[in-house]
Amino acid sequence: MESLRERIFARDGYRCVYCGGIFPAEELSLDHVQPRMRGGDNSEGNLVTACKPDNTRKGAMPAWAFLAELPLERANFLRYALHVWPRHLRAIKQAAR
Ligand SMILES: [Zn+2]
Repeated sequence: MESLRERIFARDGYRCVYCGGIFPAEELSLDHVQPRMRGGDNSEGNLVTACKPDNTRKGAMPAWAFLAELPLERANFLRYALHVWPRHLRAIKQAAR
């Protein structure tokens, strides 16, 4: 059976939503837009594909905080993270400086 991880990677075309690069599965990770420790869950609307360096860089931050001062990554996210809940996309647009 296909794992959640494989399903999200396939949904996102094996593309990191932060840098826009396409990577083999072993170089990717599942990223929680709203981290679990901050109330996020494993719903597909809260999960995106991220390369490991970008996931490490984001750390425990919600995506909107991480992206607030990163216009390039924010543009990539809004272009590629098409399956994320609309409330997350709104938070990301509103946090832009
Ligand atoms: Zn990346």
